[in-house]
Amino acid sequence: MGKLLVLILLIVAAVWLVRRALRRAAPPAAAPAKPTSDELVRCAQCGVLLPRAEARMSAGALYCSDEHAKIGPMSGPGKR
Ligand SMILES: [Zn+2]
Repeated sequence: MGKLLVLILLIVAAVWLVRRALRRAAPPAAAPAKPTSDELVRCAQCGVLLPRAEARMSAGALYCSDEHAKIGPMSGPGKR
């Protein structure tokens, strides 16, 4: 009977050690240091910042949407 109790205590201790090791390893894995790969660009029409992957390129300028790409840059000839 005494052997069984020791075995149970060993299993409990092993589980506790594994859980503690996992908890210690978790924070670095949960928060990976992401490099700023998606660069932000400014819409030439309204000046909003958006990721480069979502921007539209028109006549050498970047825009947030197709509508703004059609309108053109803010400081264009249609200035009020
Ligand atoms: Zn825009």
